[in-house]
Amino acid sequence: MQFQNSLDFARHLDAQDPLSKYRDEFHFPQVEGKEVIYFTGNSLGLQPKNTQRFINEVMTDWKELAVKGHFHSEKPWWDYHERLAAPLAKVVGAKTEEVCVMNTLTVNLHFLMVSFYRPTEKRFKILCEEKAFSSDQYMLQSQVRFRNLDPDETIVEIKKQEGENHWRTEDILEKIREVGEELALILIGGVNYYNGQVFDMEQITKAGKSVGANVGWDLAHAAGNVELKLHDWGVDFAAWCSYKYMNSGPGNSSGIFIHKNHLGKKDIPRFEGWWGTKKETRFLMKPEFEPMSSADTWQVSNPPVLSLAPYLASLEMFEEVGMETLIKKRNEIGAYLEFILQEIDKETEGNFEIITPEDRGCQLSVFFHGQGKSLFDYLMKNGVITDWREPNVIRLAAVPFYCSFEDMYRFGQILKEGILGQSR
Ligand SMILES: *Cc1c(COP(=O)(O)O)cnc(C)c1O
Repeated sequence: MQFQNSLDFARHLDAQDPLSKYRDEFHFPQVEGKEVIYFTGNSLGLQPKNTQRFINEVMTDWKELAVKGHFHSEKPWWDYHERLAAPLAKVVGAKTEEVCVMNTLTVNLHFLMVSFYRPTEKRFKILCEEKAFSSDQYMLQSQVRFRNLDPDETIVEIKKQEGENHWRTEDILEKIREVGEELALILIGGVNYYNGQVFDMEQITKAGKSVGANVGWDLAHAAGNVELKLHDWGVDFAAWCSYKYMNSGPGNSSGIFIHKNHLGKKDIPRFEGWWGTKKETRFLMKPEFEPMSSADTWQVSNPPVLSLAPYLASLEMFEEVGMETLIKKRNEIGAYLEFILQEIDKETEGNFEIITPEDRGCQLSVFFHGQGKSLFDYLMKNGVITDWREPNVIRLAAVPFYCSFEDMYRFGQILKEGILGQSR
């Protein structure tokens, strides 16, 4: 399609967009009485308007039923988490029994390391991307030290090539072959938080399995953003948070995936608690733990229902729309945003560069060779919410649920004013 950098054209695209009506289903913050242009759904998704109702329901049940709410509310609390599994499984390409919502993301990664990082004298190395998200680095290093191993000898980082902004799949595959029989685990962020790159999860998983390693993915920036087929790809485990593209509120619960191959097993190391034992016999309070044949077996505590409620509210919308439709609009609005950026760059000699490779989801990371930070401040002051990463990167996520093509056009105009105003 031939794009145009005009308000009429942007509105024409909105008029044709089957998702445009969903914008009204979200609360937008305001700056000077006007709804913001929101580009930070990759950090904290907007609040769906139905969230409040789901939370109120739990609050009312608690008020009116108290302890009876565990079994006698309309959505009983004791197995509330089970309601999330089927819709969430569709988002990540899993079987329902492979998915569970529990704890928070980094906590879950720690729990999953107990089961899937089982170093031996010969096979002990972990492969991850260089400059992984800080929490993932701390998690890996502390897990390695916990097992009396040396992080420097154990953690192998995949590097980008000199002067390049993305990782090459062939370099990753080469590294996997090279580490070979010493490789115990691959754990990478499926979508990189900094440059927005989507890794070739299928190929990397296959390569990891072929040398005998376990393969896990941190899907914080992938869940609800890109197509995932965790089951078919043969991924061993994965975890993600719910507050980025999944719009479930700050710090909210995390999802986990455990491949069917690992379910229903007794011989797998795991940190256990009462919500992981068979539900039929759970309240007999027996000393023996009886694993279930689902990912729920990794659940330790009784579910945080007040946190699950917003996640369930959000999943209702994902269920209604489906990933395919979201991804179709994501590609269109992302292409339009890229076009707008190129147009403004031409008009202003803004000297910025998109560092996100072709394999991408919602996020475009833009490197500003000039005055990045002051431009970022200008955008924020003028109702464009983006985020800033050192040394000079603004990340823009055009989220298909609630961003409009008109937003992209208006953003371009504000960006242009910001650049021209500063060079005057
Ligand atoms: C957002 C994000 C996290 C955050 O972890 P929490 O435990 O939810 O605070 C971790 N890892 C990655 C890759 C992320 O993008």
